[in-house]
Amino acid sequence: MVGRFFLFVILLAAVPARADLVTRLPTEERVVALTFDACEAGEKMAFDRGILDFLVQRKIPFTVFASGRFVESNSADIQALAQLDFVDIENHSWNHPNTMHQFSTEAVLDQVGRAHDAIVRVAGRQPQFFRFPAGNFNEAGLKAVESLGYHVVHWRWASGDPDRSQKADALVKRTAANVAPGDVLIFHINGRGYHTAEALPRIVEQLEADGYRFVLLSDYIGTPHPRAEPDFSIVSARQRLDDLVKRAPLAALLSVMR
Ligand SMILES: [Zn+2]
Repeated sequence: MVGRFFLFVILLAAVPARADLVTRLPTEERVVALTFDACEAGEKMAFDRGILDFLVQRKIPFTVFASGRFVESNSADIQALAQLDFVDIENHSWNHPNTMHQFSTEAVLDQVGRAHDAIVRVAGRQPQFFRFPAGNFNEAGLKAVESLGYHVVHWRWASGDPDRSQKADALVKRTAANVAPGDVLIFHINGRGYHTAEALPRIVEQLEADGYRFVLLSDYIGTPHPRAEPDFSIVSARQRLDDLVKRAPLAALLSVMR
């Protein structure tokens, strides 16, 4: 159940449980973090090219919260994105269960760990942010995720883009009406943001006109600017992990996991 990379994360996690859900960036600067959920539960999903091409061509910093299954279904795109230093690829559970508020701690850790392993394997990145599917969590689950060294990042207000009836105009207006410095904006990049590709250029233009800059979550929380390691390979990562596990007594490992 517990993957090797997952153990690697646990070993690195020296932070006490904070139980503080992040819903905005800790700053009064005129910045917003664009975040896009790439959810996949059963049916295979793919990147919304309209959104992706716009962001990449404009080099606008953005964060993808991908489920492990989405990462595996879209490995070539994820690998390509992982080469871009204005993109962060973060953890949105393994297969996107909407009921994680009812999960045991062990089941929560399994969801996070499996997705973490997939992101490390495919992207060569160490994710540090987690978003619960549909935003459903309980206090024990939140603490369990944080005990891995993760920050749980949700939002202050939702764009509403997975609702087909929310046309581009509505998304643009809702953003203008609600946005404040430090906001974490949430959209969907898996085809379920029905009018997001159409609305996004207008939202970006409007925010820029209002003096906002786009930033990564990691510019303000967690490890600043985590980058794919240039020498990363599965072999070297596994070797490092093996070295760590050899050095760490099993009892210490188990006590962290309890
Ligand atoms: Zn989702």
